Amino acid sequence: MKPLSRRMDRIGASKTLEINAKANALRAQGVRVINFSSGEPDFKTPAHVLKKAKTFLEGGHVRYTAAAGIAPLLEAVVDKFSKDNGLMYEAKNIIVTSGAKYALYNALQVLCDEGDEVLIPSPYWTSYPEMVRLAGASPVFVDTDRRFSLVPDALEAAMTTKTKAIIINSPNNPSGAVHDKETLEAIAALAIRHDLYVISDEIYEKLIYEGGHVSIASLSEAIKARTIVVNGVSKAYAMTGWRIGYAAAPEAIAKRMINMQSHATSNANTVAQHAALEALRGDPVVVEDMRHAFARRKDVMVEGLNAIGHLVCDPPAGAFYAMPDVSALFGKTFKDTPIETASDVSRLLLEEAHVATVPGEAFGTDQHVRLSYATSLEDIEEGLQRIAAVVKAMA
Ligand code: PLP
Repeated sequence: MKPLSRRMDRIGASKTLEINAKANALRAQGVRVINFSSGEPDFKTPAHVLKKAKTFLEGGHVRYTAAAGIAPLLEAVVDKFSKDNGLMYEAKNIIVTSGAKYALYNALQVLCDEGDEVLIPSPYWTSYPEMVRLAGASPVFVDTDRRFSLVPDALEAAMTTKTKAIIINSPNNPSGAVHDKETLEAIAALAIRHDLYVISDEIYEKLIYEGGHVSIASLSEAIKARTIVVNGVSKAYAMTGWRIGYAAAPEAIAKRMINMQSHATSNANTVAQHAALEALRGDPVVVEDMRHAFARRKDVMVEGLNAIGHLVCDPPAGAFYAMPDVSALFGKTFKDTPIETASDVSRLLLEEAHVATVPGEAFGTDQHVRLSYATSLEDIEEGLQRIAAVVKAMA
């Protein structure tokens, strides 16, 4: 048979899905698995959002919408950027997508040609490199510093004549790092000087525990003119399954993104667009309550990890992940099995402690393991005890 597309040969399987499959197999055998691998809030979608969706559904007019999204939602997104980020857009700059993920994928399709390079600070969200490859471009990874802050000099050193764009993500998945204004100013200056586009993934904006959120696009008109800001309702409003994200971009880019969407998915799910409108227009206290709950869980997770010994975890400033350095375990053994990598640590924790985590290799670091604290305090406490028991039994 003829070969399948070369494009897909370049794409690997998702490590996070592999872990999920293993955890599910254990669960199917009746094992109680503590899940620290998930990238989604455990809270329910707010009641007023559910009610709005139900009312809309009962009306029965569930039709296609304009490719960019329903007009009131585009306006709500314009208002959100103005109120939260000091960013002035018009509806023509906005596209509502099937999750922030599709906004990122679509943006890269619009920006990149074969042979382009895209800078990705490491550690990074696991899908960025594959999305870059799917757009025919090559990811170029650039290390961050010990606290996972961006290093402008390192980014500049990685630039070539082929560099087209840089992806920044603050707060960051997996590290929880929140980039400060000064660092973002340095990155903006570089992007302007080297004529690069910026994709700014701000999906965890509402989940910050230290400092505040700055959108790089808000720093000047010059950087706004070359930035695509991506955000959405998944993480802030516990709406992962609704699949609604959005992006704001200069008109020429937004137009192409909308054209592409019109041929790919037509529009984001209509019921979910109405639900997202209700979320964005709703009382922000709902989001604040969740943020407070995450903050408490973060403290318990980070203190617990550091108390185990051999694991070093700086408190993350945002998102809902802790990412301890586990390299002090390398060279040890567990029941005669050597531990050499973060993947070994993660596998051991799943098989021996029935605690699901994600090894750093999924995010471009071989020293760390990512643990999501978007789960109950009881599970966090039990999971920590189980991890401590396995670490203690290492020789
Ligand atoms: N960007 C980052 C950094 C994420 O962690 C995620 C989800 O895990 C997304 C984007 C995708 O968000 P959505 O569920 O809205 O597609």
